[in-house]
Amino acid sequence: MRLDRVINENIDQDTQFFDEVLPESTAELWINLEKVKIINSTGILRWMRWCKTLPPGIRVYLLNVPNSLAVQSHLIDRFFPPFMKIQSVRGYFFCPDDSEEVLVQMERNKDYFYAEDMISKKSEVRLPKVPCPHCSKIMEPDFLETRVFAFLKVDQ
Ligand SMILES: [Zn+2]
Repeated sequence: MRLDRVINENIDQDTQFFDEVLPESTAELWINLEKVKIINSTGILRWMRWCKTLPPGIRVYLLNVPNSLAVQSHLIDRFFPPFMKIQSVRGYFFCPDDSEEVLVQMERNKDYFYAEDMISKKSEVRLPKVPCPHCSKIMEPDFLETRVFAFLKVDQ
């Protein structure tokens, strides 16, 4: 059975999402994190505790992950367990010439690749070339690639 859920609030002590007990028959869980901006330290603990409560054998797919959440994998080992895959990540790109800023959604198998999806069995990041809406120059990521995409290293 596949379940689709949305986390429509920041991840902290009040996030109601974690209160739901999933049926044992849940094979796939797809979570849209479009509305999540911030995760605080209580939210980090709740997230990790929640990961341990999921039914065995489940696959979890995360959509629209903010880079504030993705980067936790750089700080905390196995923040995203191997059964959990990030399908898309949001991050800002900026233009140093005119301070334009654009929020970009980066997608699995287009902008970044898990080792398991590669013939070479090595993960890879190929950041999109985002033209500045003002001057058309290619913009720079406003995040550290190695940190935001640290989650790709989990299964290597
Ligand atoms: Zn520009």
